[in-house]
Amino acid sequence: MCRHVAYLGPPIPLADLLFTPPHSLNRQSWAPRDMRGGGTINADGFGVGWFEELPEPIRYRRSFPLWSDAGLPALAAAARSGAILAAVRSATEGMPVTETAAAPFADARWLFSHNGRVAGWPDSVTGPAATLPTRDLLTLDAPTDSALLWALTRAGLRTGAPLGKALAAVVAQVAAAAPGSRLNLLLTDGETIAATAYGHSLSYRATPGESVLVASEPLDDAPGWIPVPDRSLLVATPQAATITALEGAAS
Ligand code: GLN
Repeated sequence: MCRHVAYLGPPIPLADLLFTPPHSLNRQSWAPRDMRGGGTINADGFGVGWFEELPEPIRYRRSFPLWSDAGLPALAAAARSGAILAAVRSATEGMPVTETAAAPFADARWLFSHNGRVAGWPDSVTGPAATLPTRDLLTLDAPTDSALLWALTRAGLRTGAPLGKALAAVVAQVAAAAPGSRLNLLLTDGETIAATAYGHSLSYRATPGESVLVASEPLDDAPGWIPVPDRSLLVATPQAATITALEGAAS
């Protein structure tokens, strides 16, 4: 069921998320701990996006398992960034295994990932999809639920919605159209991370004033990881993190 992670803070090597910690994203690709909702490994592609002194983040995606990319450890040791989003994918049944279906999805300064599945795909969400400009539908990265969720999120961001509001609106819209969906969304613009817990695990660890890490599963057993309750929204910067209940959340 895919695993994702995002970081904001002083520059670190990408390897500090992908390889170095005991429960790194690499380890989560073949030995995840909490695959509620199905799947056993995350071997259907991966991706990492990171910000440098460029207008847009750099993105590297592949359609094969993270552990089998022989060049990645050296790249991840050399590339450093203060804003990173990475994901490993377990393709939902019936969805293609292609590079373009792997997160992060990207546009302008935004990086996005989805952990979960849209129930009843694709018929259940033809309504929400119809709210998008035709051009956005014709240029989806891939014929997958995650790519549609990104298009819906991006449409909200383009209206100027803050990151957290954009995610909450998409969860509300898609959960209403497709009840039973699992919608853990993760989004950053390099300054803020917004993430939803909706059907899958999510945790964060903050060093206030310095850094924040948000992950499907904690990257290590060190103290400080805080689980995000299901059906809630986390909005975090290195300065502060807030959790709010998502609309329609079970009490
Ligand atoms: N449904 C999405 C896909 O197939 C995400 C899968 C997941 O979270 N495992 O790409």
